[in-house]
Amino acid sequence: MLQIALALILTPPTHGNPLDTSVPVPAVYEPSAAFDRLKEGNARFANDHAAHPHQDANRRSTVAGGQHPYAVVVTCADSRLSPEILFDEGLGDLFVIRVAGNVADRFALASIEYAVGHLDTKLIAVVGHSNCGAVKAAVDAGSIATRASNNHGHATDGDDNIAALVAEIMPAVRAAKNQPGDLLGNAVRTNVQFSIRRILEQSTPLRRGLMGSEIEFVGGVYDLKSGQVNWTEIRRGANRVALYTD
Ligand SMILES: [Zn+2]
Repeated sequence: MLQIALALILTPPTHGNPLDTSVPVPAVYEPSAAFDRLKEGNARFANDHAAHPHQDANRRSTVAGGQHPYAVVVTCADSRLSPEILFDEGLGDLFVIRVAGNVADRFALASIEYAVGHLDTKLIAVVGHSNCGAVKAAVDAGSIATRASNNHGHATDGDDNIAALVAEIMPAVRAAKNQPGDLLGNAVRTNVQFSIRRILEQSTPLRRGLMGSEIEFVGGVYDLKSGQVNWTEIRRGANRVALYTD
């Protein structure tokens, strides 16, 4: 029922003859090719060689007939890291979910499941960023956060929404306290790792997709100054490969 409802909401209205297949639909990307494309686009952006693709009338016509975004990007709502800009992409390329602190609530999970199940997207990238205000709030909060409701995005009254978000990030902060080096930086990276872990814990279809090698997850941290995404992990099947060294 949920998938039907989402399809109704997210499927663009069809204009003209629905049997007209003259307008090509964007290609489907396998996970490794999708990851390469994310890295290439970010390198163009960070090196000031952005191509700004897929932002014209021709692209509008192509994607009006259908979409196969090659990656889901789960990232923070922060105004300084719009995914289409930092990955140098345009319309129909990325299926973007943005919540402060790049955590995934139930509706974010439903959105990811929709992209994987209906749009053939095979790569999910969770991207945190340097100096994240939401993670910093969790670092600063300490005892305040422990009193907040920890009910995964379903606040019980109107006053504890931010506290609920901070509480969601707190486990990553606690884990980062045992790591050497900068606490906020470590908490941001750990929060990416924990976000991916929670997505897998809370979504049976995505867990099955990963274990069946149909989809892959990557995690990374965007640096606000350099413009680079430093990739921190890959989840492929049952394997988690850490891409950073302390
Ligand atoms: Zn942030």
